[in-house]
Amino acid sequence: MRVGIPTEIKNNEFRVAITPAGVHSLASHGHEVLVQAGAGLGSGIPDEQYKNAGATIIDNADTVWDDADLILKVKEPIADEYHRMHEGLTLFTYLHLAADRALTDELLARKVTSIAYETVEMDDHSLPLLSPMSEIAGRLAAQVGANCLLQPAGGNGVLIGGGSGVRNGRVTVLGGGVAGFCAARVADGMGADVTIYDVNVARMRYIDEVSNGRIRTQFSSPLAVKEACTASDLVIGSVLVPGARTPHLVDNDTVAQMMPGSVLVDIAIDQGGCFEDSHPTTHAEPTFTVHDSVFYCVANMPGAVPHTSTYALTNATMRYAVLIAEEGWKNACTKRPELARGLTTHNGKLYTTGVGEALGMDV
Ligand code: NAD
Repeated sequence: MRVGIPTEIKNNEFRVAITPAGVHSLASHGHEVLVQAGAGLGSGIPDEQYKNAGATIIDNADTVWDDADLILKVKEPIADEYHRMHEGLTLFTYLHLAADRALTDELLARKVTSIAYETVEMDDHSLPLLSPMSEIAGRLAAQVGANCLLQPAGGNGVLIGGGSGVRNGRVTVLGGGVAGFCAARVADGMGADVTIYDVNVARMRYIDEVSNGRIRTQFSSPLAVKEACTASDLVIGSVLVPGARTPHLVDNDTVAQMMPGSVLVDIAIDQGGCFEDSHPTTHAEPTFTVHDSVFYCVANMPGAVPHTSTYALTNATMRYAVLIAEEGWKNACTKRPELARGLTTHNGKLYTTGVGEALGMDV
C-alpha cells in the first residue's frame, strides 16, 4: 500500500503523523511511504531521517495526497485540504466531526473512508489514541492556566502555589478522566488547592485513592459546578462524552459571577467545549475575555509541544496504521474491534452515532 504523510498546515500545528521508526516499520512490511518534505521539522525530525528509514520524500502536498491509498495525519483536514481528498482514500487522523459539519459533508461527498483516532475505543471504553494527547493537554492545561493567572497576561495575579502565610490558587477541574487527572496532578504539584468534579463515582474513588486524598473529588451537579467556579481562580474543562458534543457545564451567568481575572481553560474545545462562551482559539491568539475572565480554548494544545507529542501519538497509532496498510481498512476493522468503532465515514455514509446526533444527520 502507498501511505502518505502530508505536512500539517493547521495554525501552529507542529506535530507529524509518523516518526522514522514508523516509516521503518511500514517499509519493512513492503509498503511505500511518501513523506512531504519538511513534514517532521516542527518535531525535530529532518527529511534525511525519514529517507534513511525508507521513506520517499515528496516536494508537494498534492502529490502526497493524490498518490496515497492511506493518508496518516494528526489534525482534521482544514478547508484548504478538502480538494485533496479523493474517492476511495482511507484517512486515519483526529477528526472531531461532532463540531464540524463542513468537514463531515466533504468526507461524505468525496466518499472517503475515515477512521477517527478519538473514537477508536477498547472494550473497556478506554480511548487508546486519544489518551496520549489527553495526557499532554492535561499537563499543559495546568501550566498555561497558571501562566494566564499572571497579571500581565490579564489574570487575577494569584500565584498558583501561593506563599508562606498566603493562600494558594484554587483550581477546579471538570471531568477527572485522563486529561483532567493529569491537569489536577500538575496543578497539585505546583501547590494549588485542587478539586475534580466528575459523574463517575468509581473514577473519583480511584483519584481519591491514588492521590491519597490530596486531590479532592466532588460529584458534578450543575449547582456544585456553579459554586465551585465562582470560588475558583482557575477552572479547567476536560469533560468527554465519547463521539458526542461536550455538554456545557459553565454558562455565561456563572462566568459573570466569577472573580475578575479568573481563568477558564477549555481542553474539551475540540469536542465543542464545556463552557457556553468557549470558541476555538489558536496558539497564535490563545485567549479572549468574557466578562472579566480569561478564556484559553486552543483546540490543538499538544501542538505546542511537538517534540513530546509526536512520539507519544505515534507510539499509539502506528500499530493500527501498519495493520490498515497490511490488511486494508475492512480486514483491519474485523481483526481489531476497537478500530471498527473508530470508523466514521465510508462510501458516503456516516457511521458514528454521536456525530449523527450532534449534527442532526442520519447514521
Ligand atoms: P476521558 O474520557 O478520559 O475523561 C472524560 C471525563 O469526563 C470522564 O471521567 C467522565 O466521567 C467525565 N464526565 C462526563 N460527563 C461529565 C459531567 N457532566 N461532569 C463532569 N465530568 C463528566 O477523556 P479525556 O481523554 O480526558 O479527554 C477530555 C477532553 O479533552 C476531550 O474532549 C478530548 O477531546 C479533549 N482533548 C483536547 C485536546 C486539546 O488539544 N484541546 C487534546 C486532547 C484531548
